[in-house]
Amino acid sequence: MKVARTIKEVRSHVKAARSKGKKIGLVPTMGALHSGHTSLIERAARDCDYVVVSIFVNPTQFGPNEDFEKYPRPIEADLKICEEHSVDLVFNPSPKEVYPAENLTWVNVEKLTEPLCGQFRPGHFRGVTIVCAKLFNIILPDVAYFGQKDAQQAIVIRRMVADLNMPLKIVVCPTIREQNGLAVSSRNQYLSERQRKDATLIYKSLQKCKELIRDGTTDTPKIIGEMRKILQQEPSIEIEYISIVNAETLQNLEQAKGRVLAAIAAKIGSTRLIDNILIDTHEK
Ligand code: AMP
Repeated sequence: MKVARTIKEVRSHVKAARSKGKKIGLVPTMGALHSGHTSLIERAARDCDYVVVSIFVNPTQFGPNEDFEKYPRPIEADLKICEEHSVDLVFNPSPKEVYPAENLTWVNVEKLTEPLCGQFRPGHFRGVTIVCAKLFNIILPDVAYFGQKDAQQAIVIRRMVADLNMPLKIVVCPTIREQNGLAVSSRNQYLSERQRKDATLIYKSLQKCKELIRDGTTDTPKIIGEMRKILQQEPSIEIEYISIVNAETLQNLEQAKGRVLAAIAAKIGSTRLIDNILIDTHEK
């Protein structure tokens, strides 16, 4: 496994692989790798001949009062995980390598970045789009892999790629969960045992939504009310949003019909967690 810390190095490794006709798969991450990330790596290894994992805690996607400084950076453990998963190349640049000067160019995906997390994390998605645009330009992958866990991010990136005619395919992989339903996340390590238990109410609330829709309830304010009751069982949970939206446009739905995305963001202590599920009411 090669580890590149500069753009020059990463480009030369990828160029060599491409000249041998290899299909290049990219898994962009912020590190602190877990089973969610490795599921993307495994998928990339199945589809592609050469797997690149980027590990970069991207400063531009964090707000001023967010956890950029304290975000975990266990690089040695991450490299070991990549090695164990037969990753071909890890790109682990410094912030200066990615942002050598003040960044003046941004990619603004309109509309899709406004609801859900867009309301609570101003500037977050332009940080995500610029870093992905840079990674795609540096690595030139044939395919890039993202998790359904960050549903809005995946939709925004897919749209950026389509609107800018970027020559790669975006694949979105299912959310990996702990046995108790909690979506695996690098931020779960901020949680105490007690908070981890409380956090399972997020998935319970999403499951309630699925159950109600399956049983024929379509009135979204009513469904959201029931979901809220579950989260309120634990007063330490501070709800940011509970939304039921069209899974393509992310617009709020009055009636839960078609391809529906139910999404929650909540804070437990100072840890912000997000989760979602997709429900297709046409599927039986
Ligand atoms: P992050 O390192 O948190 O920026 O995540 C890197 C990629 O892994 C993103 O595409 C995430 O959506 C994906 N990811 C994170 N957690 C999970 C999970 N529990 N299941 C599936 N994918 C995940």
